[in-house]
Amino acid sequence: MKLLTLIGSTGSIGRQTLQVVRHYPDKFKVKGLIAHSDWENLIKQANEFRPEFIALTNKEASEKLVSSGYSGKILPYDTALEDCVTPDLDVVLVACSGINGLIPTLKAISYNVDVALANKETLVVGGELVKSALKGSSSNLYPVDSEHSAIWQSINGNDRKDIKRIIITASGGAFRDLKKEELYAVKAKDALKHPNWNMGKKITIDCATLMNKGLEIIEASFLFDVEVGKVVPIIHPESIIHSMVEYNDGAVMAQMGTPSMVLPIQYALTYPERLETGVSQVDFLKVRKLNFYEPDRDRFPCLRIAEEVGRVGGLLRTAMNAANDVAVDLFLKDKIGFMEIPELVLGEVNKFQNKKDFNLFDVLTCDREIKEKIYSKYGV
Ligand code: NDP
Ligand code: MG
Repeated sequence: MKLLTLIGSTGSIGRQTLQVVRHYPDKFKVKGLIAHSDWENLIKQANEFRPEFIALTNKEASEKLVSSGYSGKILPYDTALEDCVTPDLDVVLVACSGINGLIPTLKAISYNVDVALANKETLVVGGELVKSALKGSSSNLYPVDSEHSAIWQSINGNDRKDIKRIIITASGGAFRDLKKEELYAVKAKDALKHPNWNMGKKITIDCATLMNKGLEIIEASFLFDVEVGKVVPIIHPESIIHSMVEYNDGAVMAQMGTPSMVLPIQYALTYPERLETGVSQVDFLKVRKLNFYEPDRDRFPCLRIAEEVGRVGGLLRTAMNAANDVAVDLFLKDKIGFMEIPELVLGEVNKFQNKKDFNLFDVLTCDREIKEKIYSKYGV
C-alpha cells in the first residue's frame, strides 16, 4: 500500500491518476488532494477517496471550500503546496500546472519521498535545483510525461553513457497541416481540438505551437543527463511511438502503445510492476503505417526558441516559460493571435539579462516580474 498525495487532482492528469487509484484500491491510499480553484470537484473527489486533508491554493475558492460544510481537514491556501508534502508519504504526484510544481517537488526530495512528475515546468525552470536536491536524497524522480516515460522505459537496463541520441516524438498539434499564412487567423477554440490527446488548455496550446516539445526537450535533458542538442524532436502524427533512444551500436529502443496517459501515470506509481491498465493494445494490422516528419521551425518558431534557450540555460528558461505562460493565456482570451505567441516570447528572451547561477527565490521572482510586466502591458 503506497501513501500518496496528489497535487492538481481536479485537472486532466489528476483525474486520470484517481482513475488508477480507483482501479487499485488495495495498492494506494490518498493522504492529500490539492487543487487550485475547482472546489466542487475537489469535494466530490474527497468524498470518494477520503483523504486526510484537502486544499485549494486560490484564496477565494479556498474560502468557498471552508464555508461549504465539508467536514474533513482543509489546509490553508497559502502554504498548502508545502504543507501537503509530509515525510510519511511514499510518493507525491505533481500534476499542477505552471511552475507551482517546483516547491512541492523540492520539499518531497528533502523528505526522501518519491516524486511522480507530470509537471514539466518544474524541470524547465528549476532542473539544476531538483538535480542538486536529489544528490543528497534517496527520493526517486519518476517521469509521468508520456515521452519521458517512454524514454525511461527505453533506457531500462542500458547504460546512459551508451546513449547516442534521444528521439522525442510529437503529434504535431492541432495545426500541424496548416500553412504559415493560415496560422495567423486561427483561434483558441481551433487549437483546443487536439488530434490524439485530451489535456488541459495550456498544454494543448503548447502542443499547437510546438513549445510543448521544446519544454519536453529541456525536461528530458535534466531527467536523463543528456545535452539539449542530443534530444531530437520528430513529428509522428499517429502518437503510437511515444519516444525512442538511439544507442552507440545503432540499436534503437522505442516504447509504443495506444495514446493514453493512464499507462505512464500508472507505471510511475507501480514501477517496476506492469499491471493491467484497461488501455487497449495497439492493433498494428489496423495501424499499418507509422509516419515521421521533420518539425517545421519556421511555421512553429516556439520550438526553435525553446531549443536555443535550453542550450543557453540559466534563469533564461524561467523568463521564456513565464512569457509563454502569459502569451498562451492572452491567446486563450483572444487578446493576441497565434503567431504573436512566439513573437512575445522571443521579445522577452532577447531582452532578458541572463543569470547562470540561480536559486528558488530567483526563479519565483523572475517568473512573477515577467508575468506582471506583460499583463500590465496588455491591460489584463
Ligand atoms: P489541467 O489544466 O487540466 O489541470 C491543472 C491542475 O492543476 C488542476 O487541478 C488545477 O486546479 C491545478 N492547479 C493549477 N494551479 C495550481 C496551483 N497554483 N496549485 C495547486 N494546483 C494548481 O492541466 P493538465 O492536467 O493537463 O496538466 C498538468 C501538468 O501536467 C502540466 O504541467 C502539464 O504540462 C503536465 N502534463 C499534462 C499532460 C496531459 O495529458 N494533460 C501530459 C504530460 C504532462 P483547478 O482545476 O482546481 O483550478
Ligand atoms: Mg508529453
